Order: sequence, then structure tokens, then C-alpha cells
Amino acid sequence: MSSVNVVTESRQKLQAAVKDVKLYIDGAFVDAESNEKFDNIEPFTNEKINAVASGGKADINKAAMAARKAFKGEWGKLPLQDRLDYIHKIADAIDRHVDELAPLESYDTGLPIFLTKKMVSRASKNFRFYAEMVSSRMVGDAYQVDDQFLNYTIHKPVGIAGLITPWNAPFMLETWKIAPALATGNTVILKPAEWSPLTANKLAEIIDEEVGLPAGVFNVVHGFGESAGASLVAHEDVELISFTGETATGSEIMKNGADSLKRFSMELGGKSPIIIFDDADLNRALDACTWGIFSFNGERCTANSRLYIHENVADEFISALKERVKNIIVGDPLDEDTQVGPLIHTNHYENVKGYIELAEQEGCEVFQGNVPEEHRKGNYIPPTILLHADNSMRVVQEEVFGPVLAVMTFKDEEEVIEKANDVRYGLAGYVWTKDIQRGHRVSQAVDAGMLWINSQNVRDLRTPFGGSKHSGIGREGGYYAFEFYTEMQVVHVALGDHRIPQFGKK
Ligand code: NAD
Repeated sequence: MSSVNVVTESRQKLQAAVKDVKLYIDGAFVDAESNEKFDNIEPFTNEKINAVASGGKADINKAAMAARKAFKGEWGKLPLQDRLDYIHKIADAIDRHVDELAPLESYDTGLPIFLTKKMVSRASKNFRFYAEMVSSRMVGDAYQVDDQFLNYTIHKPVGIAGLITPWNAPFMLETWKIAPALATGNTVILKPAEWSPLTANKLAEIIDEEVGLPAGVFNVVHGFGESAGASLVAHEDVELISFTGETATGSEIMKNGADSLKRFSMELGGKSPIIIFDDADLNRALDACTWGIFSFNGERCTANSRLYIHENVADEFISALKERVKNIIVGDPLDEDTQVGPLIHTNHYENVKGYIELAEQEGCEVFQGNVPEEHRKGNYIPPTILLHADNSMRVVQEEVFGPVLAVMTFKDEEEVIEKANDVRYGLAGYVWTKDIQRGHRVSQAVDAGMLWINSQNVRDLRTPFGGSKHSGIGREGGYYAFEFYTEMQVVHVALGDHRIPQFGKK
């Protein structure tokens, strides 16, 4: 069968299989209390995929009651090993469904299928990772003070975890939060992004049918940020919010959650620099630079959206970059060969297009790759580079979140560090040089939570993920998520009858 036929068949199968999406509360799939629904749209065709139940305050209240009951009841009382068995079961179930989850994610988001396949398998690894971590770390320290006192610490789950996620890599980002939250013993209310509900719903189905978690442990309330999201944030019984999304939304959430004194983890926007010195391996730097900005359709928080190339090699590098941009395969997200697919939504498409127009008005030369004629009805922005950009421009200061790279040159280390740090974001940074001292020196001088030297975005699950400045508060991943989802308690025990001051005793 030709690849066009394979893709058409795959889309037809998805169209036939996808049903309307309901909320998953207390172990049951239900409509929203208001009965309201919204349309979910395919980015490739801009046609309706299905209808999604639109949750609001009443549904969040129901989910919180169920989550509290499970936390106080069966889930909270489970022996640790039994709880972790469930976490392994979720990982196994995800693995059994990789072949369904990846196309579903590509269909819903426009992300190329070669990527969604990788992301789905990383999700199950994350569940196993946290099952193992919790089994060794859900222990405390004991402090023998003297023969009169023993103090010890224990880690306890916090309670109900509210998880609010974006659409740009939905399944992976949701499971990054769900895995540590459940493994540490919390119950969960997930509020997925309204533009990408399908894989969160599939996960609820898999958990419901194949894992058999006690009712109320895992709940999914679909809906809009201002209704379902805001109600989750404001709910008195929800102890923590782990949020990934835009910086402005994060700030709004922190204000709304302040009255109930919630614990927050904030993974926010980025405008990350890639700094390429004239001694770098330019071929590898070119691979990394093109991948880092054009993979995930450019809708990637850690995208290297600002290129600073040393002036001695700028001409050579930029002409090679243009050649790459022309040849990037822009296509149907369900096609295995596709490197860049359509953006998630027409609103986002208009936003990104607006930034490119603005860059041109601000004095950039715009160079773009190609979108095949037959794909023009999707939300396609061709891979784009903005030449002659500079730090004063909005396209250099603001997160575009599309396949758009601002290109700038620099003369020396001091200048490039200053330019790299001259934005409000601080998520990631990439440094390319063969000078090992300079690599470390520049990395440490860049204001960002994550730096890669002669490398790109490869991350071990044990390492922290997150940013500084307006890119976030706290870290996800590794032990850092374990700490976020647990409460530490210290217990002071008397081993004998030590003397206590006897106030009021005659
Ligand atoms: P967004 O902020 O618009 O939405 C994210 C989620 O928040 C959605 O589920 C949305 O419904 C919800 N939401 C919106 N308003 C809310 C409110 N008032 N109260 C509660 N919830 C609300 O972000 P997006 O457009 O979905 O995602 C793209 C953004 O996410 C980009 O800025 C990107 O950089 C960022 N991101 C960051 C990371 C990271 O790890 N730092 C990872 C991925 C994406």
C-alpha cells in the first residue's frame, strides 16, 4: 500500500473509533453537570473530531469529593507495595496501547507520529521510574538524639493533587505529573488542555478497564481554563496544583490559589538561546539547532527559538540552515515521514503568523520552507527563520511557540551572555563550543534552569526539569517531583520519662 493510502486508512480508523469524550469522575464516565460540550477540532483538516464534555465548578466539586473519599479510604490505606503494583500496572497498560495512543495524539494535536510514538513510550517509563523511586524513598531518617529521645521523619502524600496541563505534548506532560502524584499516594484531578483531550480520555479508559484503580483515585475533568481550571485552583480541598502552561496563566493561577494557600509547581514559557561559537562542530550544531526549533512543530517549551551565531561562521552556518529549512518535510502528522505538522489550532496559527508579520515590520528578513499545496487547509506555518533579528524586537523577547527561529550574530562571550540573559524567560539554553572551559563558563552564566553543552534536550528521568525567572517555580522530574508531591513529617518520641517543666505545680 502506498504511504498516502496508509495515512488515509489510519485517519479513517481514528475517525471511526473516536467517540465523544466524557468526564471521568469517581470511576465513571459522565456528562458535565451543565450538560455543556465543546467541539474538538483536528489541526490537519480543521474539521470537528468529536464533542467533549465541558466541566465546570459542579464537576470539580464532585471530583474533589470522590478524590477526598478515596484518599481517606481505600487508596490511603493501601500497603505501599500494593499501591506501587497499581503504578506498574498503569505502565504495562500504556505499553499495550502505544499503537493506539500515538496516532490518537497526532490526530488531536498535529504532532508528527514519529514523535508521538517516542513520547508515549517515555510515559510508561516514567510510571516505572516513580514506582521504583517511591519504593526506596518513601522512607524517613531517624535521629537518635540521646538515650532519652528519638526523632524520625516520614514522607506522606499531600492529599488531592490538581494537575493542569497544556496541549503541546499532552500525554507526556500529563503523565509526568500523574506518575509521581499517584506513586507517592495522592489522589488526582487532571484538567487537560481543551485543545487536546483525546489521549487523557484514552488513559482514563485504559485505567478504568485494565488497571482497576479504586474509584476516585484518578479523575479527569475536561473543560476550559476559566471554568474547570479556575474551579480546580480555587477548591479548598485541593492541596496542590502542578501547572504547565503559559507564564500569564501561571501567574493568574497563583493569585487564584492564594486564598487556599496551595502548594504550586509552575512549568511556564521559554525563549531559549542556542549559542554557537566559531570553534563548534558546526554540522552537529546545525542538526541540534534545526531539531531544537522545528521539532514538535516548534510548539515546544524548550525550543531554541533564539540563535546567536558567532560572526566568523555566521554566513556559512546561515546558508546551511536555509538549505535545511527548505528541505524539512512538512506534511500530514499521521505520515511517518513528516517532520513538521500543522499547529494545534487556528487561534494559535493566527498568533504565530502575526509574529512573523510583526518581525518583518520590525526589520527582519523572513526565510521560509515549504508547505505542500494539498495541506493548505491545515494550520500550517512553514519552518521560518527571521534574519537580522535583534534583542529589541518583540519576536526575540516573546514566546512565539511555533516553527520560527530568530537569528542573531555575536562577536564575543561577554556580549552573547548579556544578550542571552536579556529576556524575562529562563527555561533552557544550549551552548556549542569545543572549548570545554568556555562551555561550562558560558552555561553557568546563562540564566536558565537547564543547559545543554554540545547536546540537545536529552534528559535523564532523574534530573530536574524546569526554569528560572518567568519560566517557572520549582522543578519536575527525579527526586524533585517526589518532594513536591509529599509532605514531610517529623515525629519526636520520648524513650524515657524525661524532665518536663512543671508549670503551676505546687
Ligand atoms: P495555557 O496557559 O493557555 O493553558 C494551559 C492549561 O491551563 C490548559 O489546560 C488551560 O485550560 C488551563 N488554564 C487556562 N487558564 C486557566 C485559569 N485561569 N485557571 C486554571 N487553568 C487555566 O498554555 P497552553 O497554550 O496550553 O500551552 C503552551 C504553553 O505551555 C507555552 O507557554 C509553553 O512554553 C508552556 N509549556 C511549558 C513547559 C515547561 O515545562 N516549562 C512544558 C510545556 C509547555
